[in-house]
Formats: sequence, C-alpha cells, structure tokens
Amino acid sequence: MNPVLLPVRLYGDEILRTKLKECDVFDPALQAFIPDLVHTMYERDGVGLAANQVGSHFRVFVIDPAWAREDASPNPIVMINPIIESREGEVDNEEGCISLPGIFAYVHRAVRISYSYSDPQGNRLHETAEGFKAVVIQHEYDHLEGIVFTDRIGILAKLKLKRKLNELVARAVNGVNIMEGFPDD
Ligand SMILES: [Zn+2]
Repeated sequence: MNPVLLPVRLYGDEILRTKLKECDVFDPALQAFIPDLVHTMYERDGVGLAANQVGSHFRVFVIDPAWAREDASPNPIVMINPIIESREGEVDNEEGCISLPGIFAYVHRAVRISYSYSDPQGNRLHETAEGFKAVVIQHEYDHLEGIVFTDRIGILAKLKLKRKLNELVARAVNGVNIMEGFPDD
C-alpha cells in the first residue's frame, strides 16, 4: 500500500500540547502508521516530524537531519519511545517547525546528547549525537512531551512572533487546527 500524506496539525491544536504515552513497538497500528509519518515528513520538506503533529498518539518521531542538504537522499531514522539520557554544552540554533509555518526563532539547545530509542524492528539502540542532529532530536522529543519550540524562546522574541502565533491559533476549531487550506499549503 502506498503511504498516505497525513494532514499536519498546526499551533493551536490541542494534540500538540499532549504528552504522548509509551507505545508497543509491535502494535500493528503503529507499524502501519510509520510509513505515513515518514512520507509526510518528506512531502512537507521537514527534517523531523512527531506523531502528534499528524494527529497520532504513538510516542514516535522520524528525523532526517541531512535532508536539509541540497544533494541529500532520504535516510529516515524512526525513533520509538525515545529517551534523552544526557545533555551537554550549549548552542543557539534557528528553528522552524512544520506545525508553525512561517515562524522561525533561535532556540537554546544542548550541543551533545546521548539517547536511546527503539527502532521499528524492536531493537533498543543507545547512541550519541551532536550539532544539528542533536538539535533536531531535542526539537522532536519536545513534541512528544507536548512542547513546541516557541515555548523555549525569550519574552521579547515571543512578542515579535505574537501576531503570527495568534493568527495560527485563530484557525483552530474545537481544539483542532489542520493545515489544509493554509496559504502555504
Ligand atoms: Zn516541530
């Protein structure tokens, strides 16, 4: 079956504020969902996408930090039930998010992390990352905790984005804010 392009949830959608619970790696619904998650990340030209950004409650995200490069070929890394074990150093990185179209801000992150996760085959992997990959993992991990990157910026930076953020929130209907029909869509 061909993977499906899932509708992206925008800032103002309650599911982006939901802390996702650990899931069973071998749940057939999760296994069926993963290809759609990966497909949607590439279709939306993201370097990462978390389950709640497309309306799912599985504790999983996909990343492909190299996708930002011109010559990149797809290399998705799916992380199920990830845990960030340690954070070291500091870096300020300009971030954006598929769920916050047109909004960018510098976010303070750790420069090196160690973390563990289950891959879709059920192997528990322990790895380290630094630089951009570490930042992408921290950004996506935040989504699983119900946090978006604008929660981590200073008051002044947030004031500058206030109008755009309010415009996004104003689109929400009964706590649901789907990208379809958005000008950038
Ligand atoms: Zn994001």
